Amino acid sequence: YLPLDKKHVLVTAAGQGIGRASAIAFARAGATVVATDINTEALATLEGETGIVTRQLDVLNDDAVKAVVAETGPFDVLFNCAGVVHGGTIMDMADKDFDFALNLNVRAMIRTIRAVLPAMLERGDGSIINMASVASSIKGVPNRFAYTVTKAAVVGLTKSVAADYVTQGIRCNAICPGTVESPSLQDRMRAQGDYDAARAAFIARQPMGRLGTPEEIADLAVYIAGATYTSGQAFAIDGGWTI
Ligand code: NAD
Repeated sequence: YLPLDKKHVLVTAAGQGIGRASAIAFARAGATVVATDINTEALATLEGETGIVTRQLDVLNDDAVKAVVAETGPFDVLFNCAGVVHGGTIMDMADKDFDFALNLNVRAMIRTIRAVLPAMLERGDGSIINMASVASSIKGVPNRFAYTVTKAAVVGLTKSVAADYVTQGIRCNAICPGTVESPSLQDRMRAQGDYDAARAAFIARQPMGRLGTPEEIADLAVYIAGATYTSGQAFAIDGGWTI
């Protein structure tokens, strides 16, 4: 039994981390996947994966989003995975960082949803999955002002789209991970100077005593993509951080 048999899926930020693991998991669940990322080198690591084609896509570029959807759509499932983490409190965050986080973490999702939704509505079926975080409306996390504000907006965006289209066959849900092993998490740990101490602190946040894996988050994305009786939910997957 393949839960996503004959489903066509668009994934953003599929070059590494959770997006990459999800593209592979969607394909193994029977879907055909268009895996996109701004970084072509990262995308190249997906070459040869059955069921996956890749396209370079900068989700900040409206014309590029429309062009990729026109060429490779229509889609049954959209997984908006692109996002960026900035450090800093409300006082020391640079305004330009906040604007960038808003653009990439929120506006890009509006852009991709607008591009895929008309065809989903025509067919009366579609599943939209947005990457949020438990650092959002669920939980305040120190030193993550821009991130927490924008990921909370993702939860609101998700619920708003879910409410508007629930009677027309469209489901829209958010995934809210705790701390997940990924290339950008590695960068954040290295940037703190003492890598071992930073890693220990990131692990300590999860009562399960470890980081999540991209594959664990990908499993939830596959579930939500195929789930037909849930919409507007923010699914926490966080090693017990928010118990
Ligand atoms: P990552 O941060 O290591 O990789 C992000 C990917 O996004 C990269 O391949 C990059 O090239 C791509 N990207 C960046 N800008 C882009 C753009 N403009 N257009 C298209 N692609 C672009 O991967 P990750 O850590 O798995 O994070 C993926 C998502 O999961 C993000 O939205 C992140 O906020 C969220 N998340 C991650 C964690 C974690 O602990 N890793 C926790 C909660 C939520």
